Amino acid sequence: MAFESLGNKLSLIFKKMKGQATLSEKNMDEMLAEVRKALLEADVNYSVVSSFIEEIKKEAIGQKVLDKVSPGNMVVKIVYDKMEKLLGEGDNDICFNMNGKPTVIMMVGLQGTGKTTSAAKLANLFENKNKKKVLLGALDIYRPAAVDQLRNLGLKCSPQVDTFFMENASPVTIGKEAYLKAEREKYDILILDTAGRLEIDEKLMDELKQIQKEVKVDETLLTVDSLIGQNATNVALKFNSEIKITGLIMTKLDGDSRGGAALSIKKLTGIPIKYAGVGEKMEDLENFYPDRMASRILGMGDILSLVEEIQGKLDEKQAEKTSRRIMQGQFDLVDMLSLMKQMNKLGPLSKIISLIPNAPKLSSAQLDQAASALKQTEVIISSMTKEERRRPEMIKSNRKLRIAKGSGVSAKDVTKVLESYEQMKKQMTNYRNNPMMSRFFKK
Ligand code: GDP
Repeated sequence: MAFESLGNKLSLIFKKMKGQATLSEKNMDEMLAEVRKALLEADVNYSVVSSFIEEIKKEAIGQKVLDKVSPGNMVVKIVYDKMEKLLGEGDNDICFNMNGKPTVIMMVGLQGTGKTTSAAKLANLFENKNKKKVLLGALDIYRPAAVDQLRNLGLKCSPQVDTFFMENASPVTIGKEAYLKAEREKYDILILDTAGRLEIDEKLMDELKQIQKEVKVDETLLTVDSLIGQNATNVALKFNSEIKITGLIMTKLDGDSRGGAALSIKKLTGIPIKYAGVGEKMEDLENFYPDRMASRILGMGDILSLVEEIQGKLDEKQAEKTSRRIMQGQFDLVDMLSLMKQMNKLGPLSKIISLIPNAPKLSSAQLDQAASALKQTEVIISSMTKEERRRPEMIKSNRKLRIAKGSGVSAKDVTKVLESYEQMKKQMTNYRNNPMMSRFFKK
């Protein structure tokens, strides 16, 4: 498995570091030198390693010492956070079309990188995890047997996935016809397997551009083979300069790649890794979650519990800060987001609601809707500038439009968030002035 050797080295380094009661510049420098060496040995790009180490150092020096958390543990947590950031942070899921039209995903990549296999694996994932109806489109008319390969892989999926193919037609025509079938027969997703080449050439790019334009492609996913190491970055940059790539599928992470490509590529190309191929079977494709990958790399389970423990303490501090601000009548969008995040930590909404006496029973669709509204609010607030979050009243219509664009929603959705903020602020003021309630807020 990729990262195995890097993971082993880092956990040894952290073992020495964890629990250190004092942290001198000397032992910190020693640790960072070891981390740097381990990353370089894992084939992580040199400039990526340098800025990674620099950032950790800067943050560790500026870190306030928290009660009950040893400086050694704090540094391990900083490394974890930075590693998560390096891998891309957050949620890299595909956005499905909500307008009843099929979402079109175009797969591109050099030959042998696992493009066709990943197309079918992705179909299998969407069918099982997202309960979507998927159609595969066979657009590789050049490689003998490519169409049969895709059809066979579709049949290996469980449940089986249909493949659309045509003889004596151009890839663009096949793509368009596949789209018409998907639309007519109410498929949710159409995945187009395009031709791979041994190297990037102009003809291939022109063909891909044409498909992108004429088949209304929503996502263009590039498969990159983690075994080719840092060269994967060059391939991604070249493809992206010609056709906009929206996400990467890092394949063969189960092999003996050292993992450097996965750790460097997001930082160097700006393109998020969305999926990871971890074997040859149809179920061997995973959503790429930077936080989980970071914990996998950094010595796994024990790191996670450490991070959770520290996070809990940080949250406690944050909660105290928020309630103090509410008491002082200073509730802004940052506080609202912080409250929402605290709420999220309590567990799924269904569980929280079931604890409220006489709460109405909500259907799972309503709960899903509430959860996605919560997520959307978070995205909208994250798209604002610091100043806008602190002073929401300054957000007028042109700013609303910009925020909407940045978070992929409508200006109306932004208005709704601002309205709920106003409501919440009012409620907070009422609570503050109510002697029964005010004791819940720490002064
Ligand atoms: P394409 O030419 O890019 O379409 O590549 P293929 O999909 O035909 O894959 C090439 C080979 O790589 C096949 O033998 C696949 O089974 C294998 N492969 C693809 N993805 C993975 C992966 O994540 N792990 C492993 N171990 N093998 C993979």
